[in-house]
Amino acid sequence: MTTATAIAHYPMVIGGERVDALNGETMDVSNPATNEVYATVPRSGPEDVDRAVEAASKAFPGWARTAASKRTTLMLRFAEKLQEQVESLAEAEAINSGKPVAFAAKPELLHSIEVLVYYAGAATKLTGETVPVSSHSFSYTLREPIGVCGQIIPWNYPLMMAVWKIAPAIAAGNTVVLKPASATPVTALLLAQLALDSGIPPGVVNVITGPGASVGSYLAGHPGIGKVAFTGETATGRTIMKIAADGMKRVTLELGGKSANIVFADANFEDAVNGSLFAIYYNSGQSCEARSRLLIERSIYDRFVASFAEKAQKIRVGNPLDPSTQMGAIISPAQLESIKSYVDLGRQEGAELVTGGGSPDEDALRAGNFLLPTALANAHNRMRVAQEEIFGPVVVMIPFDDEEEAIRLANDSIYGLAGTLWTQNLGRAHRVAQGVQTGLLGVNTPATGTPGLPFGGYKQSGIGRELAFETLKLYTELKGVQINTSTRPVNPWRL
Ligand code: NDP
Repeated sequence: MTTATAIAHYPMVIGGERVDALNGETMDVSNPATNEVYATVPRSGPEDVDRAVEAASKAFPGWARTAASKRTTLMLRFAEKLQEQVESLAEAEAINSGKPVAFAAKPELLHSIEVLVYYAGAATKLTGETVPVSSHSFSYTLREPIGVCGQIIPWNYPLMMAVWKIAPAIAAGNTVVLKPASATPVTALLLAQLALDSGIPPGVVNVITGPGASVGSYLAGHPGIGKVAFTGETATGRTIMKIAADGMKRVTLELGGKSANIVFADANFEDAVNGSLFAIYYNSGQSCEARSRLLIERSIYDRFVASFAEKAQKIRVGNPLDPSTQMGAIISPAQLESIKSYVDLGRQEGAELVTGGGSPDEDALRAGNFLLPTALANAHNRMRVAQEEIFGPVVVMIPFDDEEEAIRLANDSIYGLAGTLWTQNLGRAHRVAQGVQTGLLGVNTPATGTPGLPFGGYKQSGIGRELAFETLKLYTELKGVQINTSTRPVNPWRL
């Protein structure tokens, strides 16, 4: 296995400067494919959050007043910088997160570039409205940036999540202080440097590193920020919402999921099998929108389970830096143990392990956190493995008898993030799409995350939406302005 040899150090980016923590402390960064420490980053404290918020506050008035078309130009240049660095960023992402380098580059980096381009263009489309209040007034609304936004992101898509957060915020005229996950801080720090290199003024994009429990929560409650945007576990989202409540901050949360993948007997069988494999095993199942509950119509259940299990064994699990690898490493030994304990739990609950469950039998992979694509069949929806977010390459396969039952099972979850259904019946596709309580639904496609299409959750999967034009609005305050146009003075009390 190829690993980085020297230990690199990546400083934070605050106010356009590359800086270390004021306390001088650092945190180790490991490669999930080897569990070797290969880098360090600053372990910041509250005093670093203070100076990052101060830098962002200082940059805010100038950035908010910058013409939207100028913001567009700078963000397009930012996208070009990313394009120039696709290969090196993809490698950095693969080493830090354990994901296959091929996927880090395409789709993830290319998607991130598309997101930047989308919001660069959207910056000039964010308009208010005139409101027909009365014949003697001219009334209109303004969309104004909120101010400094605190943004906290997870480890599963480190660079992509950073772009999802930064792009709409700065397009709308806000400045940001972003905290990446401690496991995967590297590409967010590189991204902040590229923002500076593209001419985005110092202080508009600040990236700090440090533990979520101390630095993240301090950022979420900081009096200098107007909004918190978070992606991660539902329990952490709940904590952040409580912290933000004191200062009545605007909050958007993109949280966990247990999304259903519904296969009807009338689906194209091969397409449904192949798409369902991708829907759970992409990124080793470490995706909030992973279709981790596979609901299969009973008449094709056995044939589908057999074909799925057979094909799952063909997925190439291996070194993330090998371009042919399809599934890389799990983020940490602790996460691997947690996933394996869910596999054990599923068997105790009565589900049948039909493929996977263990690590690949290869010497080169032994030091890393690898798990084979895993499937638990003959499960039912009330099992804990069917209700709790496992966040790994584990799918539970549940039979259903009819359309009504499929919808009921899909909705029997505290989550409501995404879903897919496979059918050739057009009427059924629309009926089920409208019946399933999720923020996003694919019909005959496992794909998610398209700029312009909202991404986010019903129920405990979150609040607000990402990727959509509406997301820009969630980074603004709405102001109403009323101008008296009457020639007669306003004097209702006849004074
Ligand atoms: P967390 O929700 O704990 O972490 C996400 C981000 O929040 C990280 O930057 C983390 O920092 C930060 N954070 C943690 N605690 C706080 C806090 N009290 N206040 C403010 N920020 C905080 O997820 P984990 O990374 O610990 O993963 C745990 C589980 O969450 C996974 O096993 C998975 O089930 C789920 N998960 C879900 C994701 C999703 O997209 N739905 C994404 C990632 C994880 P730090 O890294 O320093 O702790």
